[in-house]
Amino acid sequence: MNIFVIGSGGREHALVWKLAQSPRATGIWCAPGNAGIAGERLAKTGAQVQCVPVGAEDLPNLLAFAKEKQPELTVVGPDNPLALGIVDLFEQNKLPIWGPNKKAAQFEASKVFSQQFMEKYGIPTARSGTFSDATAAKAFAESLGGQCAVKADGLALGKGVLICSTFSEAQKAIDDILVRKQFGDAGANIVIQEFLQGLEISLHAICDGKAAKLFPTSQDHKRALDGDLGFNTGGMGAYSPTPFLGEVELADLGKRILGPWLRGCAAEGIDFRGILYPGLMLTKWGPKVLEFNARFGDPETQVYLTRLETDFVDLLEASVRGALDKVELRWRPGYSVCVVMASGGYPGNYSKGKIISGLDAAGGLPGVKVFHAGTAAKDGQIVTNGGRVLGVTAWGSDLRTARQNAYNAVEKIQFDGAHFRTDIAAKAL
Ligand code: AMP
Repeated sequence: MNIFVIGSGGREHALVWKLAQSPRATGIWCAPGNAGIAGERLAKTGAQVQCVPVGAEDLPNLLAFAKEKQPELTVVGPDNPLALGIVDLFEQNKLPIWGPNKKAAQFEASKVFSQQFMEKYGIPTARSGTFSDATAAKAFAESLGGQCAVKADGLALGKGVLICSTFSEAQKAIDDILVRKQFGDAGANIVIQEFLQGLEISLHAICDGKAAKLFPTSQDHKRALDGDLGFNTGGMGAYSPTPFLGEVELADLGKRILGPWLRGCAAEGIDFRGILYPGLMLTKWGPKVLEFNARFGDPETQVYLTRLETDFVDLLEASVRGALDKVELRWRPGYSVCVVMASGGYPGNYSKGKIISGLDAAGGLPGVKVFHAGTAAKDGQIVTNGGRVLGVTAWGSDLRTARQNAYNAVEKIQFDGAHFRTDIAAKAL
């Protein structure tokens, strides 16, 4: 099978790497890809993965490429092309594609839609309100004592959520989004949620339009610095599974979230084929959904796919075809840990083009896979080309070993200004 993967981050490197292991994969293109993706080879044929210089949001050129090459499956990594309707576009052109269509991708693209859906169908979530009027929004924030999360409705490069601990902070956040239009049209409406305290974990479920199968739990580390300090980032590291929910509790939670979610999708005519990724807070009053994403998490993908044993082509194909009941999710026992190495200054300003050394030494360690995110090839060397540069991922039979393996690999890698957290998975030990 010839496969076309869209995206260029660590998540997409993990997707390509896992697809390339399938004996069913005979060719893989990736647009636009990165230096690590370009270095992957297919297990069956030894052929190299081909990177195509088309941006992940350039729908007309992605379509033109797919029409020419006729991949038997296109796999979409990031949220933006999904929100732009790439799945609808490819389907109209009879090109098989994996990911939610535009209507289904609203679970991520619109926080107002998601919040109202959760309330309508009884999915456990934070107490909340949705507003377009600043005065009404402020009255609600005041009723919460100012402790709240103010969220722009639309996609805002992951920056549209402002956490407030006082009423004056909440007033400013509401004015920034609704009045001063800090996020443009993405902030024409907002959701305000009560501030929830607890442990945050990620769930992933693969869906086929009718059914959903839950993955093990994982945990991301969003803040830039150790101890969950510093700015929010795309994610500085992850591990799976977490010790915070046992198998029985997870299955029960899956039913309490996915049961009403599937019923709601059926009632609203939403045909969701892809990954539903609820962000969850484990609070004193039970687990609550903070938000839904409609694609694989990054770096959660890196820890999931290094444990997945099921053939990935079979799994994604079953998700597209509405046949998940025919595929069993199997996971390698043990743990995976991913430590993100970022450019100095990230998530603020950073420079690119720093030479990366030690990749082969790190990747040669047992159980280790170094996924590339922001990298490029230049004059025969690999250089930094983004904020998150690498996702150094390692497996271990227990969490302590997996973590040690990941940090042993990180130690082998150098680039000017490299920054990483030293406490990934530490909370779980
Ligand atoms: P979201 O994009 O909605 O997941 O929000 C981004 C981050 O903000 C989450 O990962 C949480 O760390 C935090 N957050 C969002 N909503 C809340 C809430 N209601 N209470 C506490 N923290 C929140």
